[in-house]
Amino acid sequence: MDATDEVIEICRDLLRIDTTNTGDLDTSVGERVAAEYVAEKLAEVGFQPEIHESEPGRASVVARFEGEDPSRDALLIHGHLDVVPADASEWSVDPFGGEIKDGYLWGRGAVDMKDFDAMVLALVRQMKREGRKPPRDVVLAFVADEEAGSTYGAQYLVEHHARHFEGVTEAIGEVGGFSVSVGGDQRLYLIETAEKGIDWLRLHAKGRPGHGSMINDDNAVTALAEAVARVGTHRFPVVLTPTVRAFLEQVSQVLGIELDLDDPEAAVGKIGPIAMIIGATLRNTANPTRLAAGYKDNVIPSRASATIDCRTLPGQSEQFEAELRRIVGPDIELEYIHRQPAIETTFDGDLVAAMSAALRAEDPGALAVPYMLSGGTDAKQFAKLGIRCFGFSPVRLPADLNFGALFHGIDERIPLEGLQFGVRVLDRFLQQS
Ligand SMILES: [Zn+2]
Repeated sequence: MDATDEVIEICRDLLRIDTTNTGDLDTSVGERVAAEYVAEKLAEVGFQPEIHESEPGRASVVARFEGEDPSRDALLIHGHLDVVPADASEWSVDPFGGEIKDGYLWGRGAVDMKDFDAMVLALVRQMKREGRKPPRDVVLAFVADEEAGSTYGAQYLVEHHARHFEGVTEAIGEVGGFSVSVGGDQRLYLIETAEKGIDWLRLHAKGRPGHGSMINDDNAVTALAEAVARVGTHRFPVVLTPTVRAFLEQVSQVLGIELDLDDPEAAVGKIGPIAMIIGATLRNTANPTRLAAGYKDNVIPSRASATIDCRTLPGQSEQFEAELRRIVGPDIELEYIHRQPAIETTFDGDLVAAMSAALRAEDPGALAVPYMLSGGTDAKQFAKLGIRCFGFSPVRLPADLNFGALFHGIDERIPLEGLQFGVRVLDRFLQQS
């Protein structure tokens, strides 16, 4: 079977394996089953995949595809096998049914990111069957636990099985390579070259406990609420990183608008729904997400706390912390509960040229542009090994599809043609890589 046919079959099989990652070891399911499926598909054509389990059931698969010239630096292609939960009552199809209708394959993970897993599997299987090799070694990694912080997947592999990644200098993975229509027959393909950092912070307020009926001018709940409101409404200043600046310059050129660097939001506002992601990469952000205080309606507690989901630009974490401390004031204590640094690489070199050329060969209206993801992926883990990470899982999308909303969204689905396009682009890319 040709890879462009098999990709649909494999993606469908993967969607039918429920790999829900709840973030809880007791309730997460299916990663082992998916890993065994992937390993079997690889072994069937002559690969020697290894399955690594970090905890029972939390399985990842790694295999090496030897290239024509194994002395060259290797390329890593990585995808995660887990998905976020789906509430079937909200969907118009069974989220784990792998249904095909209206030219789409539907299911949780269809865009995040069993689509790419399937493209890679279908392509390397075809290459093996045809006796074709990539120009250099390619390491294939299909991992667990991306959706809950990578601890039991990519992070585990990087910390305990780093030998698999020896000689790897560059990587491709998720959230990049998709098309954004900007009018006419022009499509931007957003290549992820940077990711914001993740800083989850807890704010703690202390005060004088007491009876809810009495005067109390040192109430922890009041102090915390005021601090949270100040953080939530604060707009951090625009800081243009090289990636975002390059993105804005290219987009302005394509749209034929003059870029005003003092008002970059004007340009971002013209690129459609993807502005939700891009707009968040112009500045640091801090969104309050959780509140905790008190245990009885008529008791003023001695402490109150809140969680703030902060996302920082590359090189900005110290400045950000200083600004946040100033906003919350000296009486509120800050505690980091989770930290992952931002990453950024340059949009140049042979690998980037190979991406652009492969896209253009399959879509003459394609223009590859770098962008920064406002969230985080497994790339953050692989970057710790000194690997240059790119988000490049190519898919051509219909102009009217709000792709960003499908990530973790209801009725997640991928166009069948998009899947097949991705296989063809990856094939060309790999030949030039
Ligand atoms: Zn993902």
